This record gives sequence, C-alpha cells and structure tokens, in this order.
Amino acid sequence: MKKIAILGSTGSIGTQALDLCRRHPDRYRVTALTARSSREKLFEQVREFRPEMAGLLETFDPADIPEDLKFCHWMTGPEALKAAAAEVDADQVLVSIVGIAGLRSVMDALEAGRQVLLANKEALVTGGHLVTDLARKKGRPLLPVDSEHSAIFQCLRAADGNPAEKILLTASGGPFRTWNREQIEKATPRDALKHPNWNMGAKITVDSASMFNKGLEIMEARWLFDMPEEQIQVVVHPESIVHSAVVFRDGAVLAQLGQPDMRVPIGYAMAFPERLETGVMPPDLFALGALTFEKPDEEKFPALRLAKEALRAGGAACTVFNGANEEAVAAFLREEIPFGGIARRVEKALDSLAGLKADCLEDILEADRRARETVRSYAE
Ligand code: NDP
Ligand code: MG
Repeated sequence: MKKIAILGSTGSIGTQALDLCRRHPDRYRVTALTARSSREKLFEQVREFRPEMAGLLETFDPADIPEDLKFCHWMTGPEALKAAAAEVDADQVLVSIVGIAGLRSVMDALEAGRQVLLANKEALVTGGHLVTDLARKKGRPLLPVDSEHSAIFQCLRAADGNPAEKILLTASGGPFRTWNREQIEKATPRDALKHPNWNMGAKITVDSASMFNKGLEIMEARWLFDMPEEQIQVVVHPESIVHSAVVFRDGAVLAQLGQPDMRVPIGYAMAFPERLETGVMPPDLFALGALTFEKPDEEKFPALRLAKEALRAGGAACTVFNGANEEAVAAFLREEIPFGGIARRVEKALDSLAGLKADCLEDILEADRRARETVRSYAE
C-alpha cells in the first residue's frame, strides 16, 4: 500500500490521479489533499478518500467545514501546502498545482525525503538547478508526469544506460496549427480553449495554443534529462499518439505511443517501476491509419524561439519567460489583450529584465515578481 499526498487535487491532473486511486483502493491510500479555492469539490474528495489532512490556500472559516468532515485535519494558507508536501505521512507527493507556486512545494517534499511525482513543470522551468540538485542529494529522482517527459523517461529506461543523442519532443500543434498569423493574432479565449486532443486546465490549454507549453517543456526536458537545448527537437505531431521519442547513436529511435489520456503517465509515475491498469485502451493503429509529423513554424509561434533564447541566457531568464507568460495569459483570458500580445509581452520582458540572478529560491521568486509587474505595466 502506497501513501500518496496530492497537491492540487481539484484540478485536471489531480482528479485523474484520484480516479486511479479509486480504481486501486488496495494499492493507494490518500493521506493529504489540497486546493486553492474549490472548496465544495475538495469537500467531496475528502468525503470519498478520507485523507488525514486537507488544505485550502484560500482562508476559510472553520465553521464552514461540514460536520461529517471534521475527522480530517483542516489547514489553510501556505502552511497547508507545506504540511501536505512534507509533514503528512506519505511515500509519494504528486505536485499537480499550477504555476510557480509548485516550486516551493517540490522543494519541501524533496527536503522531507518524499518521492515527487512531478506534473508542475513550472518548478523545473524556474528552479531546475535547485530542484534537480536537491533530488540528487536526497537520492530521490523526480518521476515526470507530463506526457512527453514520461515518454522520454520510459524510452531512456529501455535504452539500458546508453546515452541519448537527441530528444524528439512531440507537440500537437494546438488549435491554431493551420491558422495564419493574422487569424492567430485575433484568436479569442474561446478559440484558444478548444484543444484538439487533450482535456486540460485552462492555463496549459492556452499555452498549448501558443506553443508556450512546448517552450516550457523544452526547459523541463533540459533539467529532467540533463540535455542541452540544441539536442531537443520539437516535432509537431497532430494526432498526439507518439508522446515523444529518443534518438540513439546507432540511428535507432525509441518512441512511446498511447492515447492522449493523462491517466497513463500519471499511473506510470504512481506505480513506477510497475505498470498500473488505468482503464485506458491502447491506440487502435488500424483505425488511426497514418501518423503525421511536421516541423514547427517558429514565425507563427515565437514561443519556441523565445524559450531557447531564455535557456541560453541562463540566470533567471526562464523564470521571466514563465512569469511573463503566466501574467499575459491571465490578461488574455480576461480579454484585456489579444492572443498575439502574449508572446510580444514575454519577449519585451525578457529584453528588459536580462541578467537577473537565480541562485536561490528568493532570487527566483523575486525575478517572477518583477516579470509579472513588468508585464502588468505594458499598455500596448
Ligand atoms: P488545473 O488548473 O486544472 O488545476 C490546478 C490545481 O492546483 C487545482 O487543484 C487548483 O485549485 C490548484 N491551485 C491553483 N493555483 C494554486 C496555487 N497558487 N497554490 C496552490 N494550489 C493552486 O491545472 P492542471 O491540472 O491542468 O495542471 C497542473 C500542473 O500540471 C500544471 O503545472 C500543468 O502545466 C501540468 N500539466 C498538466 C497537464 C494536463 O493534462 N492538465 C499535462 C501536463 C502537465 P482550485 O481548483 O481550487 O483552483
Ligand atoms: Mg505535456
């Protein structure tokens, strides 16, 4: 029986992880659940999974806790996240909160010697060196949940220690793959929230449409697999069946295939090194017929170029890339800026905040704060 704490349990990844816990009650006991503000959903989850501890980032009146849920230890604010990551009894901590908020939780969980199942890519994007150093020091390598990184991880394991020459990071291309620049410039939140293959939270869905998600994933791969950015090639693959691939020196390419369903990579991380029954069927290759691949268009999607520039610049540039994008996406979802304005803001922020340090957690949080503040100050 594995004890699992889930941070961000009310989100897209969190609820799918709970689906797997529900499917395997003999293998997983949920010991902690946290959300930001979705209290009704969290109440339902606590009622079903009966964790020892539950937390909401938003403050609440203890009198609001329903009588039948008082068996659970309720907490609020950042201390709740800390307790779920590092204090509650758990073998595994799934960090599936969204945004840079995940960085501290990942560090807390590693510091406490927990096995981290990492969905929150922002922790590696912003604090990759701190997180991977700590994971190494603690002898607790991170288990990736992001589908591409799970695929790469699986291919590397199958390579039996042979080094990879190159990573082929697949991307669906999102809903605007076939749109022209003018159409993309004027895309609305409704357009951007219609992902062709994956069903995900709002922020990452917009990032998939702009390809900022793939930019973040290049950074994530750089840290997870210690691979320089020049050896990571983005490949547009609209069917989202090949979840990524690894090239070896003999010319062989290993790929991992599956339906675009996050329960597969979540289950892989949860049961590692075993494989779990997830309820997901393998892809029907006869029904698919053909799988297609394209070169990404960096003119239409500047995010890829900006991501590589940020990686090369080092320091806090990736944190600025991430923070500026988070802030711009929020403004886009409030319909305050056009879709094309997201990349323009990130580029401007990278230019004006060049040279910031990222030596410690405080530096990173400060760079993030400044990136957001800078983006908020742009009028356009
Ligand atoms: P969602 O927006 O669906 O869920 C986010 C979860 O985190 C919710 O439980 C939310 O609570 C909580 N949360 C939000 N902000 C904070 C905060 N500041 N502090 C603490 N908790 C917070 O996101 P996803 O599940 O889509 O994504 C989670 C992470 O996984 C992201 O980093 C994303 O990039 C990554 N990921 C997601 C994939 C997917 O398929 N969805 C695929 C690959 C990676 P509340 O409900 O109360 O708002
Ligand atoms: Mg992904």
